[in-house]
Amino acid sequence: MDRNAAVIERVEISPDLIVLRVKPDGSVPRFEPGQFAVLALPGSAPRAEMSGPEEGVGDPSKWIRRAYSISSSSRQGEYLEFFLKLVRSGELTPRLFALRPGDRLWLGPRASGQFTISEVPADRNLVLVGTGTGLAPYISMIRSAHRCGVGPVFTVVHGARNSWDLGYRGELEALNHGCGNFVYVPTVTRPEPRENWRGHVGRVGAVFEDGTVRADPARDDVFLCGSPEMAEELRAWFEARGFRLKTPSTQGNLHVERY
Ligand SMILES: Cc1cc2nc3c(=O)[nH]c(=O)nc-3n(C[C@H](O)[C@H](O)[C@H](O)COP(=O)(O)OP(=O)(O)OC[C@H]3O[C@@H](n4cnc5c(N)ncnc54)[C@H](O)[C@@H]3O)c2cc1C
Repeated sequence: MDRNAAVIERVEISPDLIVLRVKPDGSVPRFEPGQFAVLALPGSAPRAEMSGPEEGVGDPSKWIRRAYSISSSSRQGEYLEFFLKLVRSGELTPRLFALRPGDRLWLGPRASGQFTISEVPADRNLVLVGTGTGLAPYISMIRSAHRCGVGPVFTVVHGARNSWDLGYRGELEALNHGCGNFVYVPTVTRPEPRENWRGHVGRVGAVFEDGTVRADPARDDVFLCGSPEMAEELRAWFEARGFRLKTPSTQGNLHVERY
């Protein structure tokens, strides 16, 4: 394996969250909105200062590879964008967080995954539910497929611990205010008094339980992405209300991606 791509932009959302734009030496891999790519660095790559000690002793010659959802539009071919959370004791994210523009890394040549809107009929509304960086695939779907004021409604429910963890908030608020067919419902689980947060407080599931957002299996496709616990809990909740899980071999209107 050789480093075959470079960081062209790094935006810090919070100390534990960044948006990274990666440009491969060759052409940008084609992908369906919602798919993921693989990023890798060798064990010898430095770890970000603020990360904790590694679990176990890392082998400096071993390449560390992980899957990351693509957040950029599939309609632009200049770079791939990723929304990354620092796992302080992790192997790869502390090394990705140490990268600065111009630094090099490995980007897998192909995007993969079935968590896409390609088989969803064009007239169905999308209810996109994510925790943390589980928002990333939806940003790609929105940037690639949402048409402001035209076509089906996209509803985004994003859960985070604090309001400063709500990545892409400005972009999503602008769509919410400017497009009749876009709804953005952020919710935070642990707001601190200094945040002065006036929005929803609680888990993403609560906005469905209290009726803030309604989903109807006859008209809507629901997507769940992020923590395995959230995905499992809401999968059961939506199945109990008439949604059918999409699998590689069966059609369904409930799509699940676990990080
Ligand atoms: C299809 C897919 C798409 C993904 N997309 C993204 C994405 O867009 N952005 C993103 O940041 N991650 C994403 N992930 C997760 C990513 O692949 C890594 O698992 C994550 O970045 C941790 O890697 P690491 O090497 O730093 O930690 P590891 O060394 O793999 O993990 C160290 C420890 O931390 C735990 N851990 C792993 N992830 C988390 C977490 N998020 N929070 C708390 N503890 C954790 C592990 O269980 C382990 O015990 C995705 C995963 C999958 C399967």
